[in-house]
Amino acid sequence: MLLEKLREEVLEASKKLIYYNLVTLTGGNVSGRDPESGYIAITPSGMEYEKLIPEDIVILDKEGNLVDGKWKPSVDTKAHLYIYNHIPKINSVIHTHSVYASCFSVLNESIPVITTTLANAIGGEVPVAKYTPVGDDNMGPAIVEAIGDRLACLLENHGVMTIGPTIKDALTAAVMLEDVAKIYYFARSIGKPQILPESEVKKARDLYLYVYGQ
Ligand code: 13P
Ligand code: ZN
Repeated sequence: MLLEKLREEVLEASKKLIYYNLVTLTGGNVSGRDPESGYIAITPSGMEYEKLIPEDIVILDKEGNLVDGKWKPSVDTKAHLYIYNHIPKINSVIHTHSVYASCFSVLNESIPVITTTLANAIGGEVPVAKYTPVGDDNMGPAIVEAIGDRLACLLENHGVMTIGPTIKDALTAAVMLEDVAKIYYFARSIGKPQILPESEVKKARDLYLYVYGQ
């Protein structure tokens, strides 16, 4: 099977979205890029992740032409491709409708850096990409414009998009963002959350990138 390992990784990340309670039914999608061929492996449209096997993941070239697979790719494929074609260091894109983060997307409010965790995994405030209908040609440009050098943005009245140099990074961003959005939601309901100064955001991101872990 073509790009078997990448297909397995995309599928594993999709299943983890369920484990972390970030997707319901078939909302959301996951893709990964093979840096060598430039091919994209993406989840099929409208199919529940629990039932998928690696062959169900669709392989496309960077223009979106079908290379291998038997299903229609995600309806958000054009946005994934636009991101890959405009942010070369990115090799994974994950989309969810995770509840707490999506609350801020429907308010059209960015999520400020209120915890070191957000700075660690995303690198700064999480902005809102302007509204586009699902699958619209302007979805990718709106995301790239909003996201800048961070690893996540909200999609106005829709949900969340995270990106990363690896599938693990994009998944971590999706999980951490939802955690922080939940903290922000509760903190705002009992008071006025304090925002971390820019110097602390950079320190936290650097620590995560260069010191944290093994
Ligand atoms: P797909 O199942 O086609 O990926 O659509 C889910 C979704 O969230 C669209 O924005
Ligand atoms: Zn969606």
